[in-house]
Amino acid sequence: MKEITCKLLVIGAGPGGYVCAIRAGQLGVDTVIVEMAKPGGTCLNIGCIPSKAIIHAADDFAKTVAMAAGKNAMGIKADNPAIDLAKTMAWKDGITGRLTLGVAGLLKKAGVKIVVGRAKFRDGKTVAVETETGEQVIRAENIVIATGSAPVELPMLPFGGKVVSSTGALSLTEVPARLAVVGAGYIGLELGLAFAKLGSKVTIVEALDRILPLYDTQLTQPVAKRLAALGVEVLLGTKVKGLSSNGEALLAETGSGEERRIAADKILVTVGRKPVTEGWGREELELDMDGRFLRIDEQCRTSMRGIYAVGDVTGEPMLAHRAMVQGEMVAEIVSGKRRSWDKRAIPAVCFTDPEIVSVGLSPDEAKAAGREIKIGQFPFSTNGRAMTLSAEEGFVRVVARADNHLVLGIQGVGVGISELSAAFSLAIEMGARLEDIAGTIHAHPTQSEAFAEATLKALGHALHI
Ligand SMILES: Cc1cc2nc3c(=O)[nH]c(=O)nc-3n(C[C@H](O)[C@H](O)[C@H](O)COP(=O)(O)OP(=O)(O)OC[C@H]3O[C@@H](n4cnc5c(N)ncnc54)[C@H](O)[C@@H]3O)c2cc1C
Repeated sequence: MKEITCKLLVIGAGPGGYVCAIRAGQLGVDTVIVEMAKPGGTCLNIGCIPSKAIIHAADDFAKTVAMAAGKNAMGIKADNPAIDLAKTMAWKDGITGRLTLGVAGLLKKAGVKIVVGRAKFRDGKTVAVETETGEQVIRAENIVIATGSAPVELPMLPFGGKVVSSTGALSLTEVPARLAVVGAGYIGLELGLAFAKLGSKVTIVEALDRILPLYDTQLTQPVAKRLAALGVEVLLGTKVKGLSSNGEALLAETGSGEERRIAADKILVTVGRKPVTEGWGREELELDMDGRFLRIDEQCRTSMRGIYAVGDVTGEPMLAHRAMVQGEMVAEIVSGKRRSWDKRAIPAVCFTDPEIVSVGLSPDEAKAAGREIKIGQFPFSTNGRAMTLSAEEGFVRVVARADNHLVLGIQGVGVGISELSAAFSLAIEMGARLEDIAGTIHAHPTQSEAFAEATLKALGHALHI
């Protein structure tokens, strides 16, 4: 096969890689992207998008079940609700299919050449791709490693049979009667809550003594309450041991040494994700590592000239929007623009029930950084729009410097609060002070009014509380 030469070669077409390639193409950079699975990577195919589709379907189903049980204050009635999970999955696959086709279309529109196959470095400028029709060698001036991440497997619970990763859970065609979830991070809780709403008896096993350890308990408490209301059993401080000898149950040991036998039809293991740093010829290169990740600088340059890395392979937070922004930046650098990472904050959202958003510093983080702070918190229970949406649980919290009121962090928990993350991020990115947000007219009735009220509360004159 004839060798390809190009200015930019991107390995991996997840959010980091495909955004990098599209932007490079737009800028006239001669670009090739290699993908061994489907365009869109983890996010579009087996991550962000399919999980949110299933969460939405589960929410709708749970609401209908509640209506049928007469638990609907609005007076809506429903009869005999049922779910055909195979159909739900087909609907979800339709969405991911449209999006992956869309990504391929955008790459083509930007003039990017797509090569399908597994890429492997031969040296710092050359990559060989195993394609269906043989080996394709590509030589490039610049190479971006965007190989992403994969689920962590537990040695005593290898994936296979009834033990599934998030990928397996997102393609089940029947609702498991009993689902054990190992790990109470955001992926385990998002999927655990969804299956509980779909009708599974869910048990969550977590080795730490709390759910969602990256968030403070004020934020996670409404989620814990909802888990309890849905009948989800959460075993904290509990370590899994493996499968029972007949394979029917998950064996675990509680903090007090008590053995637990959790009967399960499916066991979903969500104990984290690991960067994909093997399988693409890293051994042919001299790349510095940063723990288990590839080391990069503020321009996403690795320790080898002309080799960049973006996305999950480069560190936490392993989130799609971080990968995309890094990808876009690298494309601009390769095209000759002066760019470097200058973001003040990367928003994080848990699509749990209710949802959690965190941007910038939490009160504890701000104090640990030696800041004198003001905190303003406003509950959704006094927000008119939240009442009309039956979404009164939760709050918005603003953390600002005590001296000049510069906003350092914004967190919140509430139904649908993910949509407020844009306002929170914008405020921090623009260097807003409490007075800027308080002085912005927030439309009524919207949940965003709670954001303005939280800043007023920090200034000492909230209006609706
Ligand atoms: C269930 C779940 C839910 C999630 N929800 C969210 C969410 O709500 N919001 C959010 O921001 N993030 C979410 N994430 C995380 C998000 O999916 C990742 O942060 C994001 O996909 C990282 O993008 P990336 O480009 O670094 O890598 P990936 O998306 O992992 O893409 C890497 C690509 O590289 C390809 N590849 C790897 N090696 C090679 C090779 N040698 N040759 C050719 N191709 C190769 C892979 O096939 C893959 O397509 C979720 C993840 C999961 C699993």
